[in-house]
Amino acid sequence: GAPIITVDGPSGSGKGTISRRLARQLGWRWLDSGALYRLVAYAGRQRGLAISDAAGHAYLALHLDVRFDEGSDGVERIWLDGVEVSVAIRGEDIGKGASVVAAMPEVRAALLERQRAFAGAPGLVADGRDMGSVVFPAAELKIYLTASARERALRRHKQLKQKGLSANLAALSLEIAERDRRDMDRPIAPLKPADDAVVVDSTSMTIDAVVERVLQLAAA
Ligand code: C5P
Repeated sequence: GAPIITVDGPSGSGKGTISRRLARQLGWRWLDSGALYRLVAYAGRQRGLAISDAAGHAYLALHLDVRFDEGSDGVERIWLDGVEVSVAIRGEDIGKGASVVAAMPEVRAALLERQRAFAGAPGLVADGRDMGSVVFPAAELKIYLTASARERALRRHKQLKQKGLSANLAALSLEIAERDRRDMDRPIAPLKPADDAVVVDSTSMTIDAVVERVLQLAAA
């Protein structure tokens, strides 16, 4: 099959920025798997589902009418039922909901084929928590991107402010820590480096340096 690079790691590690840049430079497809979990949480909230309703969220995951495209400014857009939700799903409240539904085996199973369908020529860069460990175990290159907790909170804070979403740094640090703990402690697909992943600590690296490092690893 076509080549795959997976980029997994905790919240705010820079996975989104790095994987999007890699996909663009390589001319490959891009999968933002976190957006799928966010969309399930968002759609559930819209429909008034209880956050504990695993069957209800799994049903939504199977039937989500979602489209990814790019605006004329080159920024990715996400559409749910024909309505643009690119910004609406980015808040930390939806991030928290996403990590709750992501711990449900039914929801993860429902999203599996949808994620695998992103693979294809000329290649795919897949961003998430379990891209290398579960969804694309045969990927050519697996990156586990991390950074210090403080740096990750700062990055996420900056990103939310850029999108016009309010964010308090102290509260955000706690929310991110709680979400990462939930992602690491869940029994299914817990967040951790795949056995054959290369761990890249980006705490004191620029975006360009991280992209360069991954491209070097991919060429090796
Ligand atoms: O990456 P992002 O912050 O958008 O992900 C939101 C949440 O979705 C994560 O905290 C995690 O619980 C879940 N997720 C997951 N597996 C993935 C991607 C995201 O469990 N592959």
